Amino acid sequence: MIRNSISLQNQNSNDSDVLGVFEAVNSEFFQSLRSSQQTSSPFLVSSGGTTSRAAADKHWVLDLRKNYQNISFDLKKKHVEIEAGVTMGKLCSFLEKHKRSFPIGLSGNTGMGYILTGGISPLSRSKGLAIDQLIEIKGFWGNGKEFHLLRPNTKNELTNEWKALCGAAIFLGIITQVKLKTQPLRPLLSWTANLSFSQLSECINQAESWPNSLSLQWIFGDDIFAHAIGEIKNTGDESVLIKLLEKLPFSRNRIINKFNNIKSLPNLNFGNNNNYSNSNHSEVLGLLGPAWQEKNQQVLKILKELINKRPNKSCYIASQQLGGLTHLNDLDTSFIHRDAIWKPWINGAWEANNPAKRKRTLEWMTECWNNLEFICPGVHLAQIHPHLEWHKKELSSAFEDWLPNLEELKAIHDPRNIMPPLK
Ligand SMILES: Cc1cc2nc3c(=O)[nH]c(=O)nc-3n(C[C@H](O)[C@H](O)[C@H](O)COP(=O)(O)OP(=O)(O)OC[C@H]3O[C@@H](n4cnc5c(N)ncnc54)[C@H](O)[C@@H]3O)c2cc1C
Repeated sequence: MIRNSISLQNQNSNDSDVLGVFEAVNSEFFQSLRSSQQTSSPFLVSSGGTTSRAAADKHWVLDLRKNYQNISFDLKKKHVEIEAGVTMGKLCSFLEKHKRSFPIGLSGNTGMGYILTGGISPLSRSKGLAIDQLIEIKGFWGNGKEFHLLRPNTKNELTNEWKALCGAAIFLGIITQVKLKTQPLRPLLSWTANLSFSQLSECINQAESWPNSLSLQWIFGDDIFAHAIGEIKNTGDESVLIKLLEKLPFSRNRIINKFNNIKSLPNLNFGNNNNYSNSNHSEVLGLLGPAWQEKNQQVLKILKELINKRPNKSCYIASQQLGGLTHLNDLDTSFIHRDAIWKPWINGAWEANNPAKRKRTLEWMTECWNNLEFICPGVHLAQIHPHLEWHKKELSSAFEDWLPNLEELKAIHDPRNIMPPLK
């Protein structure tokens, strides 16, 4: 153990009273876990430290940020190798020097967890998910055995282990290093605006028939803010994309801009008028489902009702768009909802250290989930909640029929359940 406090981006994790922090994963580390009375469940891994399970009261934490910072680039194959403490923003800055890019998500602050949990980028509709870029994975299974797996060349060579690591790795082992494909660095078009409720409905409608090079993300709380992002492959592309963006309705603050790197795009938030507070704690639940199409009005009406009764001003519902190459399925992965078009996520916030308000917010989140389940039957486990009642349900909605196979693999590779539970 190195120290007994930790500073993390996620407020719940940051405020937690941990048992101790390790900073390296090696045989000594596993020996300490084995000899500890308190190990089996209370142990968490932190890479980017952006989730509520990066640290928690009375848990040991393995913080990979300091000692796992290496990045290297293969000039010939254009592959990049990163260790687990590298943030997605740092990855993109590094690749920019080689005129390459990686489909990171809506924030450069996230870490390895972004890749390991699937990784839905605003560019995923044309590039696939982050797990689709994986070429090699190195780490330690929960039983302490070191592994180094290579991407299979064909479906016939696919093993359950590779499939499991692509989307469910965080339940089975500690990932220390990955090798990834990279993409050419191309300029991006960004459209941001504030919308009325009916304009959001229209934007979603239009986005559902967009080409794969364009995606829509939006956030609905006190206000509605949307962000469309498109990749410019050539000059012809640019005018087509601009025409589509100019067709989108908006109420105010419309800005169409060009950026040369995904990490420089504006954040998806409410601008200067947000009600975010550092004294809040929060949980996030990610859902997955098909296009809304003729159900558009019905879903939006439900959303409006849910937002109107949110228990805290910082609660919101947001969404990002998938589809196109996100469906890419040349090799099976543990991201089974390949046909999803929208990933709405529910952000539930409450005043820190107020159990009654926490309970109320978690009830609101459950209500949101129940009311949206008909249109979003899947779950994206970008954030896991083994500490909440709904963990069993989130696991079965995320992995469905593949879950028993994951449980079998866990019994082999993590028999003491030191990694987060699959039950
Ligand atoms: C501002 C913001 C924007 C986001 N945008 C997107 C987006 O566009 N698309 C998207 O898909 N997701 C997005 N996310 C979700 C985010 O990618 C996931 O929550 C992800 O799990 C965060 O990873 P982390 O390393 O930053 O966090 P951490 O809290 O460090 O880790 C998250 C989980 O992964 C496990 N874990 C982390 N590293 C390892 C490792 N090396 N080995 C084993 N287990 C590990 C931890 O146990 C933890 O449960 C966003 C999150 C934030 C905060």
